[in-house]
Amino acid sequence: MSHRPTRSEHRTDTGEYFLASIVESSDDAIIGKTLEGVITSWNRGAERIFGYSASEAVGQPVTILIPRPLWDEEALILERLARGERIEHFETTRVAKDGTVVDISLTISPIRDATGQIIGISKIARDISSAKRTLGALTRQAKLLDLAFEAILVRDGDDRIVYWNRGAENVYGWTAAEAVGGISHDLLKTSFPASLEQIRSEIRERGHWRGELQHTKKDGARISVLSHWVREGDGASGIVLETNFDLTEQKRRIEQQERARAELELEQNYRDLIQHAPDAILQIDRTRDILVVNAAAERMFGFSARDLTGRNLARILPGYPPLDDATDQSEDNSAWQAQEGMARRADGSYFPVDVNANPPLSHRASRTTVVLRDITERKAAQEEIRRLQERSVDELKQRNAESERLNRLKSEFMASVSHELRTPLHTIIGFSELLEEETVDLLEPRQKKYIGHIRRDSEHLLNLINDVLDLSRIEAGGIVLQAGEVDAHGVLEEILSSVERQAEQKGIAVSAHVVESKILADPHRFRQVVENLLTNAMKFTPGGGAIRLESSVAGQFLRVRVIDSGVGIPLSEQKLIFEKFYQVGNTTSGVRQGTGLGLAICRQLVEIQGGELWVESEPGQGSCFSFTVPIAGR
Ligand code: ADP
Repeated sequence: MSHRPTRSEHRTDTGEYFLASIVESSDDAIIGKTLEGVITSWNRGAERIFGYSASEAVGQPVTILIPRPLWDEEALILERLARGERIEHFETTRVAKDGTVVDISLTISPIRDATGQIIGISKIARDISSAKRTLGALTRQAKLLDLAFEAILVRDGDDRIVYWNRGAENVYGWTAAEAVGGISHDLLKTSFPASLEQIRSEIRERGHWRGELQHTKKDGARISVLSHWVREGDGASGIVLETNFDLTEQKRRIEQQERARAELELEQNYRDLIQHAPDAILQIDRTRDILVVNAAAERMFGFSARDLTGRNLARILPGYPPLDDATDQSEDNSAWQAQEGMARRADGSYFPVDVNANPPLSHRASRTTVVLRDITERKAAQEEIRRLQERSVDELKQRNAESERLNRLKSEFMASVSHELRTPLHTIIGFSELLEEETVDLLEPRQKKYIGHIRRDSEHLLNLINDVLDLSRIEAGGIVLQAGEVDAHGVLEEILSSVERQAEQKGIAVSAHVVESKILADPHRFRQVVENLLTNAMKFTPGGGAIRLESSVAGQFLRVRVIDSGVGIPLSEQKLIFEKFYQVGNTTSGVRQGTGLGLAICRQLVEIQGGELWVESEPGQGSCFSFTVPIAGR
């Protein structure tokens, strides 16, 4: 506006001068600004209300006056003005130079040039603080509350923040200029313990509400506050004073206290555990002086805790190597781990203990826990077991010796009895044979039959005696085998030829398949076994049947098999026939020969030579007796 005024403009100049002085003396703030919001004029009223001088304000963006939350509002106003609208008596808040919030009533109108083009905006701001007396009073009082530690804010009926004390700035991080004008629950992202509606109705009814809220600070952190809302007056204004006490620190302290209490409880539990342990538990320092003991230690040693603490471990464990002993210096600390030792009671008596130290005593740790277990009972039990074991071993030995002695006596007795019996029997058999031969023509058939009876029964008796003698010798371990290399093939062939005639008489077919082999056996006993099996086969196979003798190599053994097509043996008796004197009931009826000892003797003979004897049989189909004998040189 530095161009020279024209004549026609002069009149206007005067008018402008008047106008300017009216503007200047107005109580209202009259502010001109460009469409971009830069302040172009600033009257005294503006200086008074906002605190900036004209030179400070002109050229500044108008936003220096507008609380940040209302910046959007300013943009809307500019839009409306651009459309040529005038805005009247619009109530809002602005911020003065010193940061105080001023309530104003705004009238805003566009400034047009001669062509009607909008070239700027005029704003008339009226300080309506006095008009809003109630709120003003409250706000003024609230300023005192800047001194308060709590966050204090005042909200209007729309929950818009109209006051924000220093405490609120400290707690939440927003300055009053940033917070005022904002909707408090949006700004603080409040979480309520109940619905907002419920809280509001409580305030309406009772005038205040108290509860815990969650708020979000400017830095995004969530905090808990104890919030107290008080309604202003009768509540018609809708104004609420809200005081928030930050509970974060308090909560942290409570948590800390709870943690400390839990720790204390845990410690107490540990203490109880140790106190109630059945073992003596003590802690010692590096010089082995006792620091602490549990109740079991007091009981075990008959000392009170006071007597024990401060004393050296040697007082109750005198047997252990002293501190400076070489073993203590050595790497080998086994002397201190799970070791048995002797402990001494207060009365001087000793008792056995298990010693466990952790860390081992030789480590000379600043603190070592020593656990001592009284093993008196365990030791006594061990001792008792050992004694019982020894006694039973002794008894067993004695009994064995006794039974061996008895066995030997029995065998000797049997041998001598057999011998005594055999001698007269040989005589009887010899003379009855002689009698049979020499009286062939003299005696009647009936008399001859008698002599035959005498001879056969005597032979049977002799067999029985021989078998009994054999078995008792084997069982007493008195049999001496003449083991050597035997030509099994030769022996088997020989036996075959000796039974062939007998078989022919009975009408039994004999076949054989024997391999060439040398076995390690007593030839006499080997022959005895085979003959016994063949005799049995012959005995239990009726005329018209067949007998087969086989031998084959099976690993390190020669397997000999005697197969017959005779009466067979039921499965239930196949085990029993190897027992002494056992004879299968129905098979032997009518067969008078046999003692029931043959198979028992055979099995023993085979087993002492390192082989096995077994049977497979099917009643009515026949039997197969097999035994093994080691092959020589293998
Ligand atoms: P024994 O002198 O009675 O033959 P063993 O001990 O040799 O005594 O046999 C016991 C019993 O086993 C016999 O009495 C018989 O009942 C049965 N036995 C043995 N060999 C055969 C066989 N080859 N066939 C059927 N039964 C047999």
